[in-house]
Amino acid sequence: MGLQLADRLNSIEESATLALNTKAKKMAADGKKIYNFTAGEPSTSTPDYIKEYVAQKLDQNHYTPVAGINELRTAIADHCKGFYSADWISPENIMVTAGGKPGLYFSLLATINPGDEVILPTPAWVSYKHLIELVGGIVVEAKLTEDFDLDPFTIKNKLSAQTKAIIINSPNNPTGTVYSAESLNELAKVLNETEIVVIADDMYTKLIYDEGFQPITNFGFKNLIISSGFSKSQALTGWRIGYLIAGAKLIKAATKLQSHVLGNTSTLSQYGAMAALDNNDKPPMLDDLRKNLELAKAIIPTIPKVRFIPPHGAFYIFLDIREITENSIGWCESLLENRGVALVPGEAFSALGYARLSFTTDRQTLEEGLNKIKEFVEANN
Ligand code: PLP
Repeated sequence: MGLQLADRLNSIEESATLALNTKAKKMAADGKKIYNFTAGEPSTSTPDYIKEYVAQKLDQNHYTPVAGINELRTAIADHCKGFYSADWISPENIMVTAGGKPGLYFSLLATINPGDEVILPTPAWVSYKHLIELVGGIVVEAKLTEDFDLDPFTIKNKLSAQTKAIIINSPNNPTGTVYSAESLNELAKVLNETEIVVIADDMYTKLIYDEGFQPITNFGFKNLIISSGFSKSQALTGWRIGYLIAGAKLIKAATKLQSHVLGNTSTLSQYGAMAALDNNDKPPMLDDLRKNLELAKAIIPTIPKVRFIPPHGAFYIFLDIREITENSIGWCESLLENRGVALVPGEAFSALGYARLSFTTDRQTLEEGLNKIKEFVEANN
């Protein structure tokens, strides 16, 4: 028989994002030219202002307070007060944690009882489903509109006596879209008649390409938890540093959980965050990403049968390949094998007939890779 794993592992799959990435890396190691557009992270290295600041802190080796170094909580609260135009945000509303993932996990652990339902607008980032299931919650998918906006009407129809929370992610992974103010206002009206918790995953809110973005605090959701971090805005994915913003009751609960699971976020990463905030958490790679997006917006419309909704944030384009096939896994495998281009199949995000392209590579790789996709589609047309 051997080791018996717990039942909670039954529904957890290895991320499809990682599976294709692993295959692409193996092909590259075997000497093949690979255009890898699967990455969920900027390709740039850590900004110098962070490296230099943290280099002065290498003797800081002790545990920190569970919710984060006091000075950092204050710096995050001050920053967020401005970014969210929200006067209520003070240090007691902040918990520093090891990236977006633990922030989301602790939020769910603190609010979801086994059997509670969590509304998940789809397409959705791959980990939400598993995080919800890990805490015993039930995922209730609610499709976004055809142009990837929230659909308050669909969501309203999915509410039940068991609904405890909803996850909102704007700018969105995998679609890159920013939800409209109309749909968020409408949703707030619906949800504020209930006690449903709104977990806003704000991981990409610093990566915005045009005017008109409004922070989630503008819509008056009553039970709001915000999860954010520095992974994407500062190319700090490996440093594991993020934070939660919420009412003091939730922050106390999450801190209690974090005290036993994580203890504290890496001390040096917390100093890295301070340096990022000294720079107003301004993403150093935003201009390059914008240029990449312009390039992609010029090339993709020349690919037959492939459509896309231009993203307004994050660094993903969700290619609509439904006119070619619904079997995105098969299509992505074939694209990788035949042209060396790696994308993430839509199945990973509960969206058949789509493939996610991350435009964080250098410009030449992006241009060549997009042209390879075009050749592949034309050859199989
Ligand atoms: N939320 C979204 C929407 C993401 O795409 C990611 C990373 O891919 C995360 C959260 C996790 O961020 P972190 O690496 O800080 O845990």
